Amino acid sequence: MNLYNIKHPEQQVNFAQAVRQGLGKDQGLFFPATIPQLSNIDELLALSLVERSQKILAALIGDEIPADKLNAMVKNAFTFPAPVVKVADNIYALELFHGPTLAFKDFGGRFMAQALATVRGDGKITILTATSGDTGAAVAHAFYGLENIEVVILYPKGKISPLQEKLFCTLGGNIRTVAINADFDACQSLVKQAFDDEELRQAIGLNSANSINISRLLAQVCYYFEAAAQLNTEQRQNLVVSVPSGNFGNLTAGLIAKTLGLPIKRFIASTNANDTVPRYLQTGEWQPNATVATLSNAMDVSRPNNWPRVEELFKRNGWNLSELGSGALNDAQTETALKAQYAQGYLCEPHGAIAYQVLKDQLQEGETGLFLCTAHPAKFKESVERILGIELPLPDALDKHNKLPLLSDEMDNDFATLRAYLLK
Ligand SMILES: *Cc1c(COP(=O)(O)O)cnc(C)c1O
Repeated sequence: MNLYNIKHPEQQVNFAQAVRQGLGKDQGLFFPATIPQLSNIDELLALSLVERSQKILAALIGDEIPADKLNAMVKNAFTFPAPVVKVADNIYALELFHGPTLAFKDFGGRFMAQALATVRGDGKITILTATSGDTGAAVAHAFYGLENIEVVILYPKGKISPLQEKLFCTLGGNIRTVAINADFDACQSLVKQAFDDEELRQAIGLNSANSINISRLLAQVCYYFEAAAQLNTEQRQNLVVSVPSGNFGNLTAGLIAKTLGLPIKRFIASTNANDTVPRYLQTGEWQPNATVATLSNAMDVSRPNNWPRVEELFKRNGWNLSELGSGALNDAQTETALKAQYAQGYLCEPHGAIAYQVLKDQLQEGETGLFLCTAHPAKFKESVERILGIELPLPDALDKHNKLPLLSDEMDNDFATLRAYLLK
């Protein structure tokens, strides 16, 4: 597989290099040089999630990774289903939250971990990351048990929810978690100092397992096919997909699926009050505001870092950005949407509620709508319980961790201490 840096197209890498490096020169994003057109979509849709995904990823990645290895990577990563559930007439939910950390990031995170373990080369690898909650859990679970990869996750002590902490600080093994006596920014700054320390980097093989890693997006392509596979031929004719968007990785993956030949009529980018993209699509002006905190906090992003990939894909395919639907909801509208879904008999959470409502508002006669549910309602337990006036039981996956002891170390906000800890 050949990829190029969108900022510096002369920088070209293969899949292994793109996975290992994450970002290119000048923080440029890597993008596939070619995306094949698949001719056998109906045959693919008849396969199981794992078998179909093995074929899709083989078509994208090419022969750089031997088939038996790639097949094992997919099988190890995709260990949970992505069911389509009917919510209203012509409207379906694609539930992406049945993985170990109950969010769609498990798909990308787990495949990235498998990819990194495969293309790593020799030498030690240490994944170092800072988290304010969710990404840490996804990274910890994705890398848990992989040989010769150490994971160190920093988080602000007392500043993440106790349930979030339990989810990733109870694993042990190759996962070390460190509660820093400071805020999230300080944790991020410690990580940055570590990456700036060339000697340390070499000594422990530092890697960020960053969210913009191309392997994540390639994995996410597969669940769009899985959704189509669960709809009938007629529903697939005029399929409109609404994607709750923050950094726009999820939407990029959907657009890659369409480029591969998956019949999706159009996409809708749904956001919260951080609506840089919906405003841009309406006015043609890119004017990010200061980020505001919302109920759908995983989408509190005003400068979405995957947006250049979306534009690149439109440009390369000769599509016009005016074909991309969009809509934004504020918190009050999100609450109304969540209640409306619940009245329909579907329990959701704020991110999925936004995708649902924007879809419902824009769906036309004769179209079938699909919205992506990116997190389990229990991950946003407090808001969901308050808005709907109900009590949510903890799902087994969370409950199991909730009963285990915390294994975190504690550390002051001091780089020298962290350095010694990493080298130990
Ligand atoms: C990360 C996340 C999103 C946003 O996805 P992007 O790919 O960044 O657009 C939406 N919902 C949830 C629950 C998330 O964790």
